Amino acid sequence: MIELKSFLGGRWVAGRGNPQTLLNPATEEPLARTSTDGLDLAAALDYARRTGGPALRALTFAERGALLKALADEMQEHRDELLELGIANGGNTRSDAKFDVDGGIATLLAYVEVATALGARKFLVDGEGIQLGRSVRFHGQHIAVPRHGAAVHINAFNFPAWGFAEKAAVALLAGMPVLAKPATSSAMVAHRIVELVAENKILPDGALSLLVGAPGKLVSLLGGQDVLAFTGSGETGERIRSAPNIVRESVRVNVEADSLNAAVLGADVEPRSDMYELFLKDVVRDMTQKAGQKCTAIRRIVVPAALAAEVKSDLAELLGGVKVGDPKDEDVRMGPLATADQLSSAREGVQRLGGRLAFGSTAAPFPKGYFLNPILVESPGEAVHQHEVFGPVASLLAYQDNAAALVARGNGGLVSSVYSEDQAFVEKMVLELAPYHGRLFLGHPKIELSPGPGTVLPQLVHGGPGRAGGGEELGGPRGLAFYLQRVALEGARPVIQKLLGA
Ligand code: NAP
Repeated sequence: MIELKSFLGGRWVAGRGNPQTLLNPATEEPLARTSTDGLDLAAALDYARRTGGPALRALTFAERGALLKALADEMQEHRDELLELGIANGGNTRSDAKFDVDGGIATLLAYVEVATALGARKFLVDGEGIQLGRSVRFHGQHIAVPRHGAAVHINAFNFPAWGFAEKAAVALLAGMPVLAKPATSSAMVAHRIVELVAENKILPDGALSLLVGAPGKLVSLLGGQDVLAFTGSGETGERIRSAPNIVRESVRVNVEADSLNAAVLGADVEPRSDMYELFLKDVVRDMTQKAGQKCTAIRRIVVPAALAAEVKSDLAELLGGVKVGDPKDEDVRMGPLATADQLSSAREGVQRLGGRLAFGSTAAPFPKGYFLNPILVESPGEAVHQHEVFGPVASLLAYQDNAAALVARGNGGLVSSVYSEDQAFVEKMVLELAPYHGRLFLGHPKIELSPGPGTVLPQLVHGGPGRAGGGEELGGPRGLAFYLQRVALEGARPVIQKLLGA
């Protein structure tokens, strides 16, 4: 069995004792083992802060962009190998694995473009200069400079390549060194990416570290110049955010957590119309892509009461055509859940939702592997607005004229979608749903190759209020703000302008 080491302090190191085993979730075959016991995390963070930080800060945005391009090229060159690891260790179909790996590469390349636009500066100029007194000499200007700490990235199991790349792209471009901690169960993809970076010396020393396995005391070692970007369950997010040093030292934390994303069908939409078919396609894609283990997946299908029976029967028919099985088989459309724990919490989650199963069952389809067939729940209880079932499970909710109020009961989400050609309805939904979301997807059949609401695009912000963690990532250059300290400069105009190179 392979031993996965961590890359800390510029070298590969292995922990001693308490190993965790990484499996193939389709076959339960052990693939690798890792341990973080006894690793010196304080020294690793110091190395990143003292070695990687200054090296990155010495570069301009354009030069940091060139590093991101090299990282994207390396991932592209080894794409097939990364896809195979995603299939074996993540339970991904080839198409799911592409979604993860290609999404990571595309995000890095999007930030290469941001870097090109920011050009030869080493810090950001934030807005226009401001005359502060009667004389033009008294001048103010905001700038944003890279923080001097380390950026710790703790990721969820579902996107080992994209999750790594989307966070690393922004932090490295901002000028902060990264210590990435992928979720242990699916860490083989991120581990291989960091191996490639290290072997080919793609980044300056100390710019990228990797911790594979239990986080140990990692969070408790962070201070005021560090930042922590977390993606995972709301429960872990809450624990991390309330750690005493995080509160005491005002460590900047971004949390991307659970979400009960809704898809709303307008009452104007005729069955069989292009809009209706798009809606069904997006729902089925979100329920089955990555076996529903997407933070952005549609969990609540909100339809006019008059159309509920029709939507139910159409979804049942489409879900019935989804072949579940070992994702290495070409004709399989949906693989297993990532771990035995994920499977048992998804099964428990279905019980918790209440209601009736309009399609599917929680019975194991195969004797081995963590498989769950797609499940459509109808008439669920209040838990549908409170509990995320992280699997191929969604609930059908009928509305009379209260769609927005129903969606808002989810208490904050990453994305919800609206499918309607009634402009007044779309506008009403946008204004009423916007305060509860980080993103709204306005489905339209005229959008060619529409990716649906489940795809996070680097140009747009990702995150959401309330249950979704209150975080915000990406959004093109907006994402840099998390890693930069904004400072107001106040002084003589010529001095400030010279500093800006004007
Ligand atoms: P999780 O159990 O909360 O784990 C997330 C990460 O946190 C893993 O790397 C885990 O490491 C680590 N972790 C666990 N306890 C920790 C602690 N005390 N200190 C520091 N790190 C700790 O979540 P998950 O099961 O991997 O992911 C599923 C959840 O993530 C779902 O709820 C989903 O909605 C959410 N998610 C959200 C987004 C988003 O962008 N909003 C994206 C993807 C997933 P180990 O693996 O070593 O335990």
